[in-house]
Amino acid sequence: MATALAESTRIVLIGIRNAGKSSLMNTLFEKNISIISDRPGTTTDPVTRQMELGSLGPVAVTDTAGLDDEGELGKLRVLKTLEITASSAINVFVTPQDRAPTEEEREILKELILKNSRTPLICVLTHSDLPVDREKAEFVSPVPKVKVNNLTGEGSEELRNLLSAQKEKLTPEISPLEGLVSEGDLAVLVAPIDLAAPKGRLIMPQVETIRDLLDKDCASLVVKDRELLSFYNNLKEKPKIVITDSQVFHKVAADIPEDQLLTSFSILFARKKGDLEEFLKGIINLKKTPEGSRILVMESCSHHRQADDIGTVKIPRLFRQLVRSNVDFDFTRTLPSEEELEKYYMVIHCAGCMINREKMMDRLERIRNKGVHITNYGLFLGWVNGLLPRALEPFRDLYEEYRDAFD
Ligand code: SF4
Repeated sequence: MATALAESTRIVLIGIRNAGKSSLMNTLFEKNISIISDRPGTTTDPVTRQMELGSLGPVAVTDTAGLDDEGELGKLRVLKTLEITASSAINVFVTPQDRAPTEEEREILKELILKNSRTPLICVLTHSDLPVDREKAEFVSPVPKVKVNNLTGEGSEELRNLLSAQKEKLTPEISPLEGLVSEGDLAVLVAPIDLAAPKGRLIMPQVETIRDLLDKDCASLVVKDRELLSFYNNLKEKPKIVITDSQVFHKVAADIPEDQLLTSFSILFARKKGDLEEFLKGIINLKKTPEGSRILVMESCSHHRQADDIGTVKIPRLFRQLVRSNVDFDFTRTLPSEEELEKYYMVIHCAGCMINREKMMDRLERIRNKGVHITNYGLFLGWVNGLLPRALEPFRDLYEEYRDAFD
């Protein structure tokens, strides 16, 4: 089974039209993936393909439209490309070595170096068979680079090596149980199988948690909430941790001893995908929400909306009931501009299961830099449903922080 896109290391090829990005994609994959032509602007929509790449493991490489694309449609493509770079783990600036840098290239490189400083950046000089333009050589000098000839494939091995070498600069995504269990521990996972559960399979957070326990040489006991009590009472040893679906948190908490470590899948994944501490600060700041504030609900994909949709219906209703009644809500799937962001008191973000940690951390940083508070669905609903502070017990510092703020 292919690795989920959100779990692959995202590599994005960026450059002006006709820089050789699509040919580079074909060189990397050693086959025709992107359509190439001498006519500028052949790539209109991003093309993504997955492969195994040395020490990076599974990667997803995206070929993007040229950042000097023209016209109204072209501008939209440019915005799309810039949005993709926000979720990339490694940006690859592609530029022909025989031509002087264009104005657009100067802008792109400035954007990638200054505004996206957390993301490793490398440069590929295409047309390596042609003489180097002196200005271009100076222009790309601050960035690690490699020369590639897309006609012969020369330089592709060096490119793979340079990409692999970026691994040490990447922020590794923590695993669901990082630091919470040790070899030989037992974890009990509670998975309610009700009408909302997908037929014949477990959901991704449950599967990933089981796999993580196996990787850590631990054992897992997976039970439904109805069977928990009898299985738990028959255990010879107390499990290290119990992890449950949030929906049945209270039932689970009532069935197990008070001194049993307990948390929810949504808390584990809020930590894995984002910054649990930052999300908790958002919860602590709920009580300071000024009258008439604007709140932004941000999602990461266009999932099918149901009647009692969490983002557009449930969260605004609960917020108005429990925090402030006179607040306005906006909804978005893309990060607003810096000026737009400043209008909000808080962002409440979805779990981000379809995006990678880089994209979530990039969003967090941009939101935090504007002085806007942020939390996520899991923490907010956990707070609303009274899961806190108990579900924070495995994270002692955060547990204390919450107790101090709400006592
Ligand atoms: S939680 Fe996942 S499915 Fe829901 S909006 Fe966010 S990314 Fe999409």
